[in-house]
Order: sequence, then C-alpha cells, then structure tokens
Amino acid sequence: KTFEELGVAAPILKAIQELGYVSPMPVQEEVIPYLLGQDNDVIALAQTGTGKTAAFGLPILQKIEVEDYQPQALVLCPTRELCLQIADDLNDYSKYIDHLRVLPVYGGSSIESQIKTLKRGVHVVVATPGRLLDLMNRKTVDLSHIRNVIMDEADEMLNMGFTDSINAILAEVPASRNMLLFSATMPQGIAAITKQYMNHPKEIVI
Ligand code: AMP
Repeated sequence: KTFEELGVAAPILKAIQELGYVSPMPVQEEVIPYLLGQDNDVIALAQTGTGKTAAFGLPILQKIEVEDYQPQALVLCPTRELCLQIADDLNDYSKYIDHLRVLPVYGGSSIESQIKTLKRGVHVVVATPGRLLDLMNRKTVDLSHIRNVIMDEADEMLNMGFTDSINAILAEVPASRNMLLFSATMPQGIAAITKQYMNHPKEIVI
C-alpha cells in the first residue's frame, strides 16, 4: 500500500515525499489507518528504527485542528534527545500544514522560554514527564483539549522512574482521549498502565 492509500492527506504526503519516504514501513501500515479511521487505543511492541515516529506522527498531525491554538496531542518520551528528535520529525512532517506548532518540553532547558511559547499557543507538546509535570504545577499548560496521547518508549520511561509523573499527567487529560503506547518490552508496569488507562486496546507486534 501507499501512504495515500493509508489515508495520509496531501500536505503531509508532500512533506514525506521530500524526505524520501517511498512506501510505508510495517508499523506505519498497521498504525496509520487505524488511528485515522477510528478512535481507538493501540499498544505497539516495536523497537526503535522501525518507523514508529511517523506511524504515530502522521495521523496525530493530520487530526490537529490548527485554528484551535491549544495542545491537542501529547507525546511523552523518556529523554531530552528523543524529545528533540520527535519534535524535529513532527516539524518535518508538518512543514506544509500552515501555522501548526510543535513544542518540545524537557528538563535542563529554560522553563521560562517554554512557558512563553505555550502562552503563544501550540498544537502538539512533546515532553519528558518530569518537565511537563513542573509546567502543570505552575499552571502554565492546559491539557484539557488533548485528544491523543502517545507514550513512546514506555518501558524506558518506567525504568527511569517516571511512573508517578505519568500517572499525574494522565489524570489531567480528558478521559475521552485516545492513547497509543509504544514499548520495546511489556513489563508488569506497562500492563498496569494499559489496564488502568486504555480501553480494549488493539495490540500490534512489529
Ligand atoms: P523511527 O523508528 O521513527 O526512529 O524511524 C527510523 C528511521 O526511518 C528514521 O530515520 C525515519 O526518518 C526513517 N523512516 C521512517 N519511515 C520511513 C519510510 N516510510 N520510508 C523511509 N524511511 C522512513
């Protein structure tokens, strides 16, 4: 199948063509139509390098209502490096969607500048859990418009001790949101999160 046959819209198709993406990778074939077509939760067992950033990135970007300057999609990831990488990729994919704004939020950088950008309005927040929680405690980020939550490298986030932060964050997003969780392994902690927060998730193994 082509990206177009999976339902990817024109401005995003143009951007990924420029990146040299010719045909979808397996995780993308599985995840993209599912996320575009229905509102459902997904658990995907996938290693890095399988194309998972585009698998979740393309559909969440396509579903953003750009005229509403509120965070509508939240991507949680374990490290600053991954946070910046995901935000870069999302910016590449959304190059031809006018006004779409992606903000990386991570520790060790100026929180003041992140707060300033949040005030101007962003659509997608890519965050490490600790810094996002800090912003939430300062009442500088509004998660009430979030419709999609992505947890990338969920097992790594748990290994790094982010379980409590993740629980505090997920408590603040609307219950009606969809959640997709990517993990390389399925330890007990992941099972607990999926059981508590996900509704009959589709399971994909790449
Ligand atoms: P990821 O697993 O998201 O880190 O992606 C791994 C690498 O594959 C990245 O360099 C992506 O830019 C690249 N990539 C993702 N999807 C495709 C595709 N459909 N065709 C070619 N390269 C891709």
